[in-house]
Amino acid sequence: MFDLLIKGGTLPGGTTADIAITGDRIAEVGRIDGPARRVIDATGDLVSPPFVDPHFHMDATLSYGLPRVNASGTLLEGIGLWGELRAIATVDDMVARAVTYCDWAASMGLLAIRTHVDTTPDHLRGVEAMLEVKRIVAPYIDLQLVAFPQDGLYRTATGRQNVLRALDMGVDVVGGIPHFERTMDEGAESLRDLGRIAAERGLMWDVHCDETDDPLSRHVETMAREVTRHGLGPRAAGSHLTSMHSMDNYYVSKLIPLIAESGMTAIPNPLINITLQGRHDSYPRRRGLTRVKELQAAGVTVGWGQDCVLDPWYSLGTADMLDVAFMGLHVAQMTHPEEMARCFRMVTEDNARIMNLAGYGLHKGAQASLVILDAGTPTEAVRLRPDRLAVISRGRVISEKQRNDSRLTLPGRPATVRRRHPSQA
Ligand SMILES: [Zn+2]
Repeated sequence: MFDLLIKGGTLPGGTTADIAITGDRIAEVGRIDGPARRVIDATGDLVSPPFVDPHFHMDATLSYGLPRVNASGTLLEGIGLWGELRAIATVDDMVARAVTYCDWAASMGLLAIRTHVDTTPDHLRGVEAMLEVKRIVAPYIDLQLVAFPQDGLYRTATGRQNVLRALDMGVDVVGGIPHFERTMDEGAESLRDLGRIAAERGLMWDVHCDETDDPLSRHVETMAREVTRHGLGPRAAGSHLTSMHSMDNYYVSKLIPLIAESGMTAIPNPLINITLQGRHDSYPRRRGLTRVKELQAAGVTVGWGQDCVLDPWYSLGTADMLDVAFMGLHVAQMTHPEEMARCFRMVTEDNARIMNLAGYGLHKGAQASLVILDAGTPTEAVRLRPDRLAVISRGRVISEKQRNDSRLTLPGRPATVRRRHPSQA
């Protein structure tokens, strides 16, 4: 007797299979007729492992308009606004907003999130709050915390010390922001310092790296070197890497092999970078997204991150990683059928690899976490950004939604519309 049986779903690779769950594990995948306490009919629907977001800021989420909105829309005004908000936000405020966001995430099948936590203020209330959030959502969401020196490791008197304090408090991942240090030299030194800290403590490393339109912001080169030196490989990730968009092509032809050699991964954040970058341009205006297809062609794992929802940097956002994939597909021009399917993998499997998640996937013995979508294929899911009919976390159904077809009242036309298409069936 299985606890749960998902019948007839289409897996992301295109095969049709039943999935049986016992406890918090997948017991079997294939043609299964055994009895189960509950059966969900997923015939014709896409059954996927859960969505994963490897780049988020949960200490700031759902704070849009506090203390006021970002009038210029720039990264720098956003950082200034956040500086005001973090001085007045209480632990309870941050916990309440973050746990509400996690409700949204759960309803969208987003069950693993890496969030950067600002370690700049000496009070470290953000760290305290996010450790509490991690404890609260642990039964259904994997939350990784990154010690993030938003105002620079060396630019504030206690920047470095507070990163170490946060790691001592239990934060999982070492952060960094080299392009925001006072000089190129200090940015490079911050990377040597942080890479050593990650290696010595046996932690993962995820850096906001070169989030600027300045083509001479080349910190990713130093980061790749340190990742290679310490053998961190896929336990290290470069987030944003937007300056690569504007770099000299000859230089990039040397840089990308160095990144690939290091084994590090890359996390562009298309919703945020398409709105924040290029703000100093007139026309033509740059897109501000890193070189996604070129990195992938070199063998680098690239995932899409969400970064922000309703905060000082971004006034929209839904916790739907398919919105992120949809924007990424357009901005990176990933329109070939294989590239569109890849965009779905980027917000599921590739992001899981970036976060080094254990037991991820739809195979026997994996963690029984999955999402059933009202779409036929991964590409159709990116196109429709459809309802999540059911979300299962560690064997438990944590969210359900009725299929919601439109009812038409047009003479001679069908009574209902679902907007699926045979070309994507
Ligand atoms: Zn970020």
